[in-house]
Amino acid sequence: MKRIYMDHSATTHVDPKVLEAMLPYFAEKFGNASSLHSYGQEASEALSLSREQVAQTLGAQPTEIIFTSGGTESDNMAIKGAAYMCSSKGRHIITSVIEHPAVLRTCEQLEKEGFEVTYVPVDRDGIVDLQFLEDSIKEETILISIMHANNEIGTIQPITEISKLIEGKGIILHTDAVQSVGKIPTDVNELGVDMLSISSHKIYGPKGVGALYMRDGINILPLLQGGGHERGLRPGTENIPGIVGFAKAMSIAHENLEHDSRHMEHLRDSMIKKICGKIPHAKLNGHEKKRLPNNVNMSFKYVEGESLLMLLDMKGVAVSTGSACSSKSQKASHVLSAIDPGVDYIHGSLRFTLGKENTMEEVDIVVDLLEEAVIKLRQMSPFGEDI
Ligand SMILES: *Cc1c(COP(=O)(O)O)cnc(C)c1O
Repeated sequence: MKRIYMDHSATTHVDPKVLEAMLPYFAEKFGNASSLHSYGQEASEALSLSREQVAQTLGAQPTEIIFTSGGTESDNMAIKGAAYMCSSKGRHIITSVIEHPAVLRTCEQLEKEGFEVTYVPVDRDGIVDLQFLEDSIKEETILISIMHANNEIGTIQPITEISKLIEGKGIILHTDAVQSVGKIPTDVNELGVDMLSISSHKIYGPKGVGALYMRDGINILPLLQGGGHERGLRPGTENIPGIVGFAKAMSIAHENLEHDSRHMEHLRDSMIKKICGKIPHAKLNGHEKKRLPNNVNMSFKYVEGESLLMLLDMKGVAVSTGSACSSKSQKASHVLSAIDPGVDYIHGSLRFTLGKENTMEEVDIVVDLLEEAVIKLRQMSPFGEDI
């Protein structure tokens, strides 16, 4: 059976060019970048070059890149680090209701520690309510963290507009760009952000590595104490093979951004059209236009998303319900609850996230298998006759 992977927002395979770039740093070039001898220099040069590469793809300076263990750590570092640093100035943080758990759980932890957090609602398409956000700003506001693109429904947030809204107010703006990097432009100056989180394994790089972009002049408190690595902000011997692979993945994604995005967008639009044409009572979740080029999130009335996922998996098709992080719990996803597609639809959602190597032929196969699966489940449903 041919397997088809359409869960690229959960993770991606490592690009062969990325793997090739990493390999020497596991064996012959194994040095510690802090060592003074030639082994150390080799590692330290690879680290500098990687930092330059990552910075360049974001329109940033190399000194503004801090390597981390991934998106979760970058989000924690940005939010807690800024909160602790600025707590004497104020203790109010603004975020949205549809953030990734790496942001939401971090904000909840800060609430337990005495910070106040405002969770901005979103509209039916999943776009943050800018008026609500603006009205929430007060003297004590120190940080705003709004994701660039949502991992479940693919909605793209107006980050540049938010940055203009708060210009000159001395509020730090952070964005989780884990899903948007490599799919839509993420130039930090165009976005106007002070901090931006990235993860390597969502863009064909290895797992367990990522970065936090931190604008020159922004100061945060480190969450870990140790050596002076990463300007003392993230101590610990650097993961050189991972960082080299991550930088290579960033460069490839940046170089091919237009081409890959156009390809995925074409597949995405065609897939949505075909599903709507073949399957009655199907509904697109998230904004029709302001969405990631690779995201197809749809709800099907009278079926369970989990049952659909299992039926598709049996046919070799890998997709997700909502997000991978919450798919093992039976609760409706917090993102779908926030956009409220209606009781009949909320449990029947499925997320297809395309990759640069998916083809139109695969889209057609998946749509046919999906149609079969939906018909089968609806026939078993007590509501089936109404459809
Ligand atoms: C995957 C993801 C993360 C977490 O990144 P890891 O590198 O897996 O820790 C954070 N935010 C978003 C939006 C994600 O999709």
